[in-house]
Amino acid sequence: MLYEVGQHRVDLPGLAPEPQAADRFLLWWQGDLAEHDDTVIWQRFELPEAVSDIEFVGLLNGHAYYTGLLKQAPESTQTLRALGIQSETAFMMAARARGLLDWRRQHKFCGQCGRPTQAMEGESAMVCQPCRLRFYPRVSPCIITLVTRGPEVLLAQGVHHRQSGWYSTLAGFIETGESAEQAVLREVREEVGVSVHNLRYQGSQAWPFPHQLMLGFWADYEQGDIVMADGEILDAQWFHIDRLPPGPPGFSIAGWMLRRYRDFLAEL
Ligand SMILES: [Zn+2]
Repeated sequence: MLYEVGQHRVDLPGLAPEPQAADRFLLWWQGDLAEHDDTVIWQRFELPEAVSDIEFVGLLNGHAYYTGLLKQAPESTQTLRALGIQSETAFMMAARARGLLDWRRQHKFCGQCGRPTQAMEGESAMVCQPCRLRFYPRVSPCIITLVTRGPEVLLAQGVHHRQSGWYSTLAGFIETGESAEQAVLREVREEVGVSVHNLRYQGSQAWPFPHQLMLGFWADYEQGDIVMADGEILDAQWFHIDRLPPGPPGFSIAGWMLRRYRDFLAEL
């Protein structure tokens, strides 16, 4: 994903390889990752007996990763967000694991005819034979935009950041039939009322809260005063890049784009 692209090799074959002693497992308990001995990674021989819904996740640097649901409370748990702060690589595999488990649970029946679906051999797909429909793990594309005006950036506090007090970049789902660039223009206009231009794609990040793919852009401010969207944005302001308010974690694409913009300005 974002910062470690190329540093790790991720392979996603359709079929799981033969079981190995070195296989790794990420186990979930009530929506969080199960820990033992201060790690969320379990070896095959460490697996508790009560694990269900085991799913092959993929290969990371040649190691097979699996995931599953615990039926009994573990020693301790860790949230997926907390894991992201510790290890981007583990976060990436855990994000995929959660996406796969959610998808299996949510696609047991065909959305068209209501009959039970079956898992397809060799492919991440649930299939309804009578309808000839396949259901793949869901990915929801979103845009995330850093609006810039020279050394200033436009950050907003959304209603869901009321408690944390965070200010972050603007983000939203891409609507059906819309391009990523159109979504940037629309979301910025809807959320803070200003218009932007000169969009520059920066990078992407899978963000499993839930199944989002964030497409990151920088956009130059064009015109307009800040007008906040009712019920969505609590506050929005221009901040100097060297004097930012509390914001998103460094492992998120929002944090990364802010650092990247500060580095970009420093090199001018
Ligand atoms: Zn069907």
